[in-house]
Amino acid sequence: MNPAASSLAGGAEGVGPEAPPLAPQPVPGLPPVPIAKLALSVVVPFYNEEANIVPWYQALTVVLTELALPYEIVAVDDGSRDGTFARLRELHLADRRLKVLRFRRNFGQTAALSAGFDHVSGEVVVTMDGDLQNHPEDIPRLLAKIDEGYDIVSGWRVKRQDAQLTRVWPSRIANALVSLVTGVHLHDYGCSLKAYRSEVAKGIRLYGDLHRFIPAVASYMGTAVAEIPVEHSPRRAGKSNYGLWRTVRVLLDLVAVRFFLSFLTKPIQIFGFLGLISGGLGTLLGLYLAYLKIFLGESIGSRPLLFLAGLLILVGVQFIVLGLLGEVLTRVYYEVQGKRTYVIRERLGLVSDET
Ligand code: UDP
Ligand code: MG
Repeated sequence: MNPAASSLAGGAEGVGPEAPPLAPQPVPGLPPVPIAKLALSVVVPFYNEEANIVPWYQALTVVLTELALPYEIVAVDDGSRDGTFARLRELHLADRRLKVLRFRRNFGQTAALSAGFDHVSGEVVVTMDGDLQNHPEDIPRLLAKIDEGYDIVSGWRVKRQDAQLTRVWPSRIANALVSLVTGVHLHDYGCSLKAYRSEVAKGIRLYGDLHRFIPAVASYMGTAVAEIPVEHSPRRAGKSNYGLWRTVRVLLDLVAVRFFLSFLTKPIQIFGFLGLISGGLGTLLGLYLAYLKIFLGESIGSRPLLFLAGLLILVGVQFIVLGLLGEVLTRVYYEVQGKRTYVIRERLGLVSDET
């Protein structure tokens, strides 16, 4: 058994007769397997992956069985219109360790992962694609890295098997940018194969298409992130859900992520700063024009500079007001949900007052 397996298994000590049954249980209607002592949860989103499901399940199960850890697989059917759900249900009936969530419609990969995180019970959560582009054989190495103390271990598809022009190169540029802007340095943000400590996976709230930024989004909690090279294959069957357009959207998301990381609790600092610059410039221009008018007697009524000065002052005031509105929204955001502006790692001698 490899080191990851032994150590994680150690963390799940006391798994007694109530442990998840190792043999498939083809009886429908049984109570769910006990979930409190799982070591590992694997979350996988599926959108129209009918043809990939059985091969994916077999490949993953071989690896998980070898690990010899109590585990569960949480498959999320993201509103597929083919036989994806039917395949998953068949597998679930034969193996209760495979659990299935089915969305009412296609909500996207980010929502699918969020839903998975909300339902897992393992100490460690691994995510991967359902099209077998990721290799389950890499999972033990991810776990070994988590065991070293990292909170997130991200796969790096060193030899990525996607279209070069529309996918690989745009994504390289996007990765470099994300790394620069967020300060979380990874080569490959887009790799779905990742492992998380479950409190990290459960602690992040994901919107839009932000699953690609999870390591950056999670960095607000102060997470230790590692990256390891992983295998990558061409899609087994079906077609990719994404193209070049995605890279453009990634750039827009990046602006949002950066804002949230730096200014969520202090919007006045960024908007107020922009407002002061704009308003300050406008005021200087105005003073200059006033000097021309009053002391040199020049006519300034038709000068474009006058309009620019007025515009800059107006924009400056608007920025500052926007910052104040942001401050109000921030308070609403935190207080309505009883959210904290901090995340606690451990408590010694103190009890949590969180509900
Ligand atoms: N996926 C999903 N919902 C979507 C799009 C994709 O659940 O709206 C799943 C898809 O089934 C696959 C994974 O997310 O398991 C990655 O998608 P895809 O393979 O299309 O992306 P690529 O590997 O081409 O980046
Ligand atoms: Mg894929």
